[in-house]
Amino acid sequence: MFKKQTLIAWITLVAISVMPLSVLAQTEIKLHSNKYSVQDDIKLGRQAAQEAESQFPLLRDEQVRGYVESVGRRLVAAIPQDFQHPEFQYYFKVVNARDINAFALPGGPMYVNRGMIEAARTEGEMAGVMAHEISHVALRHGTAQATKGQKYSILGGIAGIAGTILGGPGVGQLAQAPFAVYLLKFSREYETEADILGSHIMANAGYDPRDLANMFRTIEQQGGGGGGFLSDHPSPNDRYARINREAQLLRVNTSTYRDSREFARIQERLRGYGTAPTMAEIQRSGQRYPVGEQTGNYPNNPPSGRVSYPSSSYRNYNIFNGGVQVSVPSNWQEVNDQNSVWFVPEGAYGQYNGQAVYTHGASFGVAQTSNRDLQRATQELINSLAQGNNNLRTSGGYQRTTMSGRTALFTTLSNINEATGRPESVRLITTQLRNGQLFYMIAVAPQNESGFENAFQNILRSVRIND
Ligand SMILES: [Zn+2]
Repeated sequence: MFKKQTLIAWITLVAISVMPLSVLAQTEIKLHSNKYSVQDDIKLGRQAAQEAESQFPLLRDEQVRGYVESVGRRLVAAIPQDFQHPEFQYYFKVVNARDINAFALPGGPMYVNRGMIEAARTEGEMAGVMAHEISHVALRHGTAQATKGQKYSILGGIAGIAGTILGGPGVGQLAQAPFAVYLLKFSREYETEADILGSHIMANAGYDPRDLANMFRTIEQQGGGGGGFLSDHPSPNDRYARINREAQLLRVNTSTYRDSREFARIQERLRGYGTAPTMAEIQRSGQRYPVGEQTGNYPNNPPSGRVSYPSSSYRNYNIFNGGVQVSVPSNWQEVNDQNSVWFVPEGAYGQYNGQAVYTHGASFGVAQTSNRDLQRATQELINSLAQGNNNLRTSGGYQRTTMSGRTALFTTLSNINEATGRPESVRLITTQLRNGQLFYMIAVAPQNESGFENAFQNILRSVRIND
């Protein structure tokens, strides 16, 4: 590593001495004063990433994610040395949302919306947005802006969930702001810096820096303004011209040229998924998403799906801070997601493509829906579940039942388990809490296994809600 950098520095020196003077005029970027440490950036970013991944459905497609990651790695490797922070861990994930947006968090986590990949006309345009985002991270704009006492605002689409903020308090206090996603609405000065550094990164990585400017045009044309990328990254007046001017001062590294066929293949693949939900729809659904990688609750392997039958003895659990009591087979264990609780036998859960997957078991959760009518609220929940499970289908109507003595609806859905590829039956039972939120139980087992019916019935009957 050391040798390689020395060599690059040497080559750069030689190159500069033989290049025309204009090359030397590429804009220099100075770091802003920052009272936070690099470790603070990392810590903040981790917290925010965990929050983000519980609020946004990640696209579970290893090919798409791997592709975005490969473009991202290429850009990160091209960050000018002055702005490299070896401690930062850049990684790239795709959010299954239609809005043309992307965001990066301090220290490196980055999320690209599916809508952004679909809107870009070329890989270079997509890379342009990513290079811009990487620049905010590399320049530590989040904590620099906080140093000035300016506040973090919350990501456009998910606004309203909470609003807390880096401004005055120390980083430690951020941990107490559970539902916030810390995203900056950057000042135009920072935007220009991210555009300039972004163009340098583009050129170093072998992309035409003008594609960064082109992408801003594409975003404007496709309506990424209100609530989208341009509201989080407000345009300096002459953004397009400014980037193009800088581009003329840069030499594109042509040794790493890449063709656009892979980008075309990825776009084609995304079209096969149908329409992604908007951030607003995701927010309205109130659905929380598993963050298996962060909670550390999941074995890092796909579930085998081979499990023991439910024990006939039961064990009581208090969940949701004692708000709900439930009794489950004693050979099942409790697994906590962000906002739902699973009870599963050994072998029935694990990670697949970075996501928590369950083959057998029961889970409980609370959903914020916009509907007071139980059936409509349930339908809303089903729609949001379907966003993360492409094969989920309703396979019957609603039946009335009771849960904890209150009116409840029972419906059966079918699904193909991602990890095992086997068809599974998903029973959903919903009822309403006093505050209007929807409380639900989900029971999952493969379609050809009938040995779980009794256990599911017993669990449903055992539910006691104290709200
Ligand atoms: Zn920006």
